[in-house]
Amino acid sequence: MSTPAKKTATNARKKATAPPTYANYIQGAWVPSKNGEVFANHNPADTRDIVGYFPHSTAEDIDAAVAAAAEAYPRWRLVPPPKRAEYIFRVGEILIRDKEAISRDMTREMGKVLKETRGDTQEAIDMAYFVAGEGRRLYGQTTTSELANKFAMTVRDAIGVCGLITPWNFPIAIPSWKILPAILCGNTVVIKPAEDTPLSVYRFVKAFEEAGLPPGVVNLVTGYGETAGAPLVTHPTIRLVSFTGSTQVGRLIATQAADKGKKCSLEMGGKNALIVMDDANLELAVEGAVWGAFGTTGQRCTAASRLIVHKKVIKKFTQMLVERTQALRVGPGLDPANEVGPVINQDQLERVLHYIDIGQTQDKAKLLCGGKRLTEGDLAHGYFIAPTVFGDVAPQAVIAQEEIFGPVTAIIPCQDFEEALAIANGVGYGLSASIYTSDINRAFHAMRDLETGICYVNAPTIGAEVHLPFGGVKGTGNGHREGGLQALEIFSEWKTLYVDF
Ligand code: NAD
Repeated sequence: MSTPAKKTATNARKKATAPPTYANYIQGAWVPSKNGEVFANHNPADTRDIVGYFPHSTAEDIDAAVAAAAEAYPRWRLVPPPKRAEYIFRVGEILIRDKEAISRDMTREMGKVLKETRGDTQEAIDMAYFVAGEGRRLYGQTTTSELANKFAMTVRDAIGVCGLITPWNFPIAIPSWKILPAILCGNTVVIKPAEDTPLSVYRFVKAFEEAGLPPGVVNLVTGYGETAGAPLVTHPTIRLVSFTGSTQVGRLIATQAADKGKKCSLEMGGKNALIVMDDANLELAVEGAVWGAFGTTGQRCTAASRLIVHKKVIKKFTQMLVERTQALRVGPGLDPANEVGPVINQDQLERVLHYIDIGQTQDKAKLLCGGKRLTEGDLAHGYFIAPTVFGDVAPQAVIAQEEIFGPVTAIIPCQDFEEALAIANGVGYGLSASIYTSDINRAFHAMRDLETGICYVNAPTIGAEVHLPFGGVKGTGNGHREGGLQALEIFSEWKTLYVDF
């Protein structure tokens, strides 16, 4: 993450034309950080454009937000779930009304093209309606007892105050996967969004305010990972930490949470394989590979960063893929003609260019297209990288093993189906995988044996539907799933009840 560009709130307001200064949301009120400091949020398509200034919060602000959530918890826990759901339903309606404005703001603050930010907002709307529906279905079980005249049952109970930490690549969808099931289950929350996308979460939290959610149930604190995220994780009142982000930070958080006996759900990185067999529909496979690799500028946990291609079709596939990739229009995401936006920030720009260098030097892979920063015309002030394809990549190459999180994909040749599966499984991550084939036996074989939480047949590695579980195995997760009814398992505890009569 880039170094915080600190400014005092007073300085930030000096000019009449200055970008707006935003606040934290604590106990139902908008408040500045206790130290009065803010950080600037830049448009990655044009860094001269400052989207706004946000509170540079520290442990003191986290303390205040956690105290507000703790105060609200006992009352919120006793609000009947169908009533909690009504607030969530209203949030969904507000998001529908404001969808276009929220999506435009999101493109401005994080760069992905408008079509995709509309999808991001829509996912939060879908999640709101799905979760609201569950308010009337928060089922437990009744069962038999070993003893006569005894009745046994289970109910879901809330956990307490939850600390939610989110990344920038799905600025509103990922917060919705956490906040909505958390509050439906009767918890109260403090969310610390990524420092690159505080505006989207600000807009989301505004919807909770407008929906009339009682003060303290949802609290927002903006700031950096080390200064605002870390004190949230270690705060003694926090009972559950739900984190989505890099594997490196996730593992640190897991250790800190375990040390204090907190529940912890982690959704982390990916190195996803898209397999193309010799019997695949190549047009479909190329389209899937392009969208899977370069959608959201490759900055998706599910990005198709490895294309494992059967030797019989690799020449044709490569030629078609490179042609299609070179035709992609790169530019600011608010222009509907553009298909690929910038990467998120200077650090990410440098990181991706570093991996492109490693691909050519250390890995000795063949650079087929892209491989450089784009600075012509209106791209000069943004973090644009040409969509990049490497060919002849070895399965153990650095660019085939490590998450790059940018518009770079690697074609890895394979001899047959068994080798394709072995290569696909030969990484430390396990989020998503896909196979293009017209052989139903291979399709089922792959679905059974790919070591991932999500598997697609004849579709790219990306995409999620809110009513289905989302998450990964190996270095990607720690056994939890977001989305679907499985999200309720994160945000509630089972309580077993016996009644003698
Ligand atoms: P990141 O790990 O750098 O940051 C994620 C969040 O953690 C941010 O809010 C950040 O401020 C906070 N943070 C950083 N250091 C912290 C610390 N020491 N203590 C507490 N909080 C801290 O990740 P990112 O760059 O925002 O996102 C990209 C990563 O997220 C990629 O690895 C991607 O694969 C992953 N991701 C995973 C999923 C999934 O569902 N598996 C979804 C989206 C993104």
